[in-house]
Amino acid sequence: MKFCSQCGAKMDITLRSLVYRKKVHILNVPIYVCNDGLCAFTSVVDVIKDDVKLLMKELGDKPEAQEILFDEISEFANLLVNIVEQGDSEQVIEKMEERIDELLDLYLLAKSLDDAKWIDEIKRRLTQIKLEV
Ligand SMILES: [Zn+2]
Repeated sequence: MKFCSQCGAKMDITLRSLVYRKKVHILNVPIYVCNDGLCAFTSVVDVIKDDVKLLMKELGDKPEAQEILFDEISEFANLLVNIVEQGDSEQVIEKMEERIDELLDLYLLAKSLDDAKWIDEIKRRLTQIKLEV
């Protein structure tokens, strides 16, 4: 579970659009949003930061106006889109969110330990959540 670095409230994961260089619309990017309506602080989910950086590097400084579906680039974003689209019941969605929360916490830990093998393992498990439920 992630807490807001600004106000300490719980944060939820949601899919948002990012605009890059005012020209490129990147859709379905997993973002943390603070539950406190007044604060509403947002931050990019850690596990996809590398994918976002890579994408921006590929687009360069003067990208053409275009729309990009981030879930076609990132397996984790794809998983979230699938959950939103196929979640039959709130119970299933809740279970998946708990599992994702757990794995994202582990991911942060693995990242802080700089354990590449563990990081890969968590990424793999994150993209397979759908199959486990
Ligand atoms: Zn906040």
